[in-house]
Amino acid sequence: MGAVFLILFRESLEATIVIGMLLAFLGRSGLGRLNGAIWAGCAAGAVASLGVAQLFLSLIGSFEGRAEQLFEGTVMVAGAALLTTLILWMDRSDLRASLERSLQRLHVDHIDFFHIWCLMRPEQLPERIAHGAITAALKAKEEGLIRHLVCSTHLPGKDVATVLESGYFAGVTLGYNALNFPFRAEGLAAALRLKLGVATMNPLGGGLIPRNAARLAFLKGPGDRSVLEGALRFNISQEAITLALVGFADKAQVDEAVAAVTNFRPYPPEHIAQLKTQITTSFDGFCTGCGYCLPCPADLPISKLMDAYNQKILEGKDDAIPSRLKWHWSLSPDLAAQCTQCGECESACTQHLDIRKRMEFIANLATKTPPQ
Ligand code: SF4
Ligand code: SF4
Repeated sequence: MGAVFLILFRESLEATIVIGMLLAFLGRSGLGRLNGAIWAGCAAGAVASLGVAQLFLSLIGSFEGRAEQLFEGTVMVAGAALLTTLILWMDRSDLRASLERSLQRLHVDHIDFFHIWCLMRPEQLPERIAHGAITAALKAKEEGLIRHLVCSTHLPGKDVATVLESGYFAGVTLGYNALNFPFRAEGLAAALRLKLGVATMNPLGGGLIPRNAARLAFLKGPGDRSVLEGALRFNISQEAITLALVGFADKAQVDEAVAAVTNFRPYPPEHIAQLKTQITTSFDGFCTGCGYCLPCPADLPISKLMDAYNQKILEGKDDAIPSRLKWHWSLSPDLAAQCTQCGECESACTQHLDIRKRMEFIANLATKTPPQ
């Protein structure tokens, strides 16, 4: 009785997973209207299995001993193979479906820069390669549906370099600005070396730079009309950067950004070097995102948590921390509670920050402040 229950449970679970995956795939592909076909397939499958069972019983009877074990083993391996194939196929088909949806929505026959979106952890690229998403994108490129395969990432510079060195991408979209530049420096250097394109997101630190213009006044170089102009020039004067994607809150900011790039003159390298030194030295207690504190034995993304703490220093508000963690890094402040206070990061920190205290602060804050 127990064995029968176990078999029934296992088979129902497998069936539920397969049906759930197919329904989720149709939902994400905007093909929910075809759900009925899946349910019809389920009904047909149930009827067919009853028919096969009946046929089996009348022709062969039942398996026993070694034959039974062989049969069960074979069915189990076949089930695992089916599930694995389905997962790989879903990942590939998912990319294809999303590409076709984009082409339809944009009324175009190809996409110039197709993004493998949002690589947040180093293992995500190997995962996407293994699951076939990159192969599907390269196939679409061969068919002319994609002109250039690029990626977007929030990884630190060293990991960005690894992603670019994989050779799959013609360029990368990443967050880069006057406040976090050391965090992605290695990635930019790799892009320059490999002659790849770089589009920067957040060149104004998600509005942080214009909001703190008085504190960041030194970013305004000779001839610049505003700090915003200085920050944009800092960004696009870097040799590795191809373009900057600027977000705007109002028309005045649009005008300022347009003015910053009209008759654009890049800053000389000496000015950029001087700004970098000034930014690093002007912000006492500011995490520069250099990543020297990594890796953390508790596997904490220290520089991301400290970047969130930077927002508190700049904005003077505690709730800037959970907000930054949630909206920029997709992290929860609870994570900071996993710090074991071992202190290894502090010995390596180039800015001699009191990381352990900050971890405690963030962890305590997590219990009080819901992210805004
Ligand atoms: S003190 Fe905390 S954050 Fe620093 S290395 Fe140890 S566990 Fe990681
Ligand atoms: S905590 Fe220190 S070592 Fe770590 S990224 Fe920030 S400044 Fe660099």
